Amino acid sequence: MMLKELRDEVYEANMDLPKHGLVVFTWGNASGLDRERGLFVIKPSGVDYDVLKPEDLVICDLDGKVVEGTLNPSSDTPTHACLYRAWGDRVGGVVHTHSSWAVAWAQAGRSIPCYGTTQADYFYGDVPCMRGLTEEEIAEAYELNTGRVIVEGFEGLDPMAQPGCLVRNHGPFSWGVDAAAAVYHAVVLDEVAKMAARTELLAPGVGPAPQYLQDKHYQRKHGPNAYYGQK
Ligand SMILES: [Zn+2]
Repeated sequence: MMLKELRDEVYEANMDLPKHGLVVFTWGNASGLDRERGLFVIKPSGVDYDVLKPEDLVICDLDGKVVEGTLNPSSDTPTHACLYRAWGDRVGGVVHTHSSWAVAWAQAGRSIPCYGTTQADYFYGDVPCMRGLTEEEIAEAYELNTGRVIVEGFEGLDPMAQPGCLVRNHGPFSWGVDAAAAVYHAVVLDEVAKMAARTELLAPGVGPAPQYLQDKHYQRKHGPNAYYGQK
C-alpha cells in the first residue's frame, strides 16, 4: 500500500472518533502501520478534528521519530510505537480515546467482566485493566511506559483475542488489523463499558455470562469454524 493511501485511511479513522461520540475536543488519536516500511501514520498533536486535513498527519518510524510531516505528532506517539514494536506482526492500527464509559472503569481500576454476548463477540473474556504507572515511570518516559505497561499486562494473552484494554486511572486503548478495526474496537469497548456499568446497577453482584455462552459467541465469529456474517 502507498503511504498516501494509508494516510487517507488513518485520516478517516481519526475523523470517525468524534463521529462515533468517542472524542470531545482533541482527546483521542488513531494511527495505522505500514508494516513493510516499518512506519506508521498518526494524528498531529492538539489539532481540532474540524480543521484536520489528511496532509496534517505525521509519519513516524517505530522509535516514534518523525520521518515526514510539519506538525508535531500526537503526544501519545511513543505508546503507539511501543505497541507496534511488540505486536506489529499482527496489529496494524491503534486507537486511544478518553471515551467516558471506558474511562469510568479505568478510573475504578476494574477490568470489565464479560456479562453478555455483545462483549463475547469481540473480547475473549474481560476487557483487562492494566496496572497504574509508578511515579518513576510517569516522571521518566510517561507515554512510552504506558505502552510498556500494556505489553506487560498482555503477557500470556493474545492481543488479537482481546483487542483493547484499559490503563488504570487513564482510559481505553484499542487495536486491530488496521486503523479502521482499531476504531471499531474502540466503539465496542465503550459500548460494553456502558452496558456492564448498567448491568451492575440493576443487579449488584451479578456474575459473568456462562463460559460456554462466551465461547460460542467468540468462536462463531473468530474460531476456526466461524460462520457469522456472509461468506
Ligand atoms: Zn490519554
